[in-house]
Amino acid sequence: MQSAAVIDHTQRDPYQVALEQFDIAADRLHLDPNMRAILRECQRELIVHFPVRMQDGVVKVFTGYRVQHNTARGPAKGGIRYHPSVSLNEVRALSMWMTWKCAVVGIPYGGAKGGVVCDPKQMTSQQLETLTRRYTTEIALLIGPDRDIPAPDVNTDAQTMAWIMDTYSMHQGHTVPAVVTGKPLSIGGSEGRREATARGVVYTIIEVAKHLDVDLEGARVAVQGFGNVGSNTAILLHQLGATVVGVSDVTGGVYSAKGIDIPRLQAYARETGQVAGFPGAERVTNAELLELDCDILVPAAIENQIGETNAPRIKAKIVAEAANGPTSPEADRILQDKGVMLIPDILCNAGGVTVSYFEWVQDLQNLFWREATINARLKEVMVKSFNDVLDLSRKHKVDMRTAAYMLAVQRVADATLTRGIYP
Ligand code: NAD
Repeated sequence: MQSAAVIDHTQRDPYQVALEQFDIAADRLHLDPNMRAILRECQRELIVHFPVRMQDGVVKVFTGYRVQHNTARGPAKGGIRYHPSVSLNEVRALSMWMTWKCAVVGIPYGGAKGGVVCDPKQMTSQQLETLTRRYTTEIALLIGPDRDIPAPDVNTDAQTMAWIMDTYSMHQGHTVPAVVTGKPLSIGGSEGRREATARGVVYTIIEVAKHLDVDLEGARVAVQGFGNVGSNTAILLHQLGATVVGVSDVTGGVYSAKGIDIPRLQAYARETGQVAGFPGAERVTNAELLELDCDILVPAAIENQIGETNAPRIKAKIVAEAANGPTSPEADRILQDKGVMLIPDILCNAGGVTVSYFEWVQDLQNLFWREATINARLKEVMVKSFNDVLDLSRKHKVDMRTAAYMLAVQRVADATLTRGIYP
């Protein structure tokens, strides 16, 4: 591979990006200045500093956040991220994106997000459990099944959710499964939740392919990120007959023009902890992966991956934002001018929170659904939401992100107006 590619590390502040995206839609909607002022701010922001005794006896103080952007449409909902670069502004942005995401797909939640500044790759499972239990205790002020319901995000998984659920339940004196979603099945998790985000991504890709008359069979795909969302998206697209030519994770990527055997790559990544070095494929950097000659690019890692430097070199005709916030507003404009069809994050990856909502409903009712029912209901939500956004984008002659924001912001504004301003 050529190695001229560089990721645009202008490193836009994610909250500034979220506000710019909001402002574009608010302008289009001629949103009332008072409403604009309300929706630009996060409603609650909790910062916690807490000690964890490490294995060598040293006490380390960690910083964590839980931010609720808006609860006009229902309890706050959003994942928890463990990453060294977590910051208040990142969590604010992610929580605002959750508000719009829940509104786009019409599920009755507001938006929240949490995070702890830590490097889970350098921690043992026992340290992660202690950190999770203490962080849960610190944010217990805010969370609860009717108040704010966390879920997995980068570097957190079903086990993390089990520890949060158990800690919260111990404090309450009884078991409260509905306090988190993305739990293991054995304690009230939902069938289909693990793959739900990826399944939702793929439903939107199928819709966009129909709209653009692209045959998914044989379509060349590149996926950045091989965690929960990236690996499941790669598998589902592979099963649909697409040719996955490139895949990466934080350590780098692999490329094969003939297509990568995704089930084998998954087994390899499970064994070695990375995709790099997969036999029979060329090595590529993350920057090169984004610029591969392909039809569909799926960023499924973190924010700030496509900016004004690399956007002109993106070759994909479809960009499906499985990750939150991978594209800057400057890059949006460049991709739009190039005629790239971008499925925005707040729509594309909403399958996760949709099945989280199904999990929460099942927990509250103590009545569990079959996987086929979950997947069918998820498909209905994603297909309808995609087409609602597409119709709006045609009607107002705006790009898909602006259309998704217009739909979401209007719904949240309507709820806010209907409820009125207390007192
Ligand atoms: P994960 O921790 O399971 O996987 C993250 C992947 O990204 C890993 O393969 C990691 O190696 C890779 N990665 C991390 N930093 C990178 C970097 N700098 N460059 C390249 N690759 C990097 O996380 P996930 O749950 O799959 O989340 C991925 C994205 O999807 C995030 O943006 C998250 O907010 C979003 N998302 C997740 C869910 C969900 O249900 N898990 C729902 C909606 C959106």
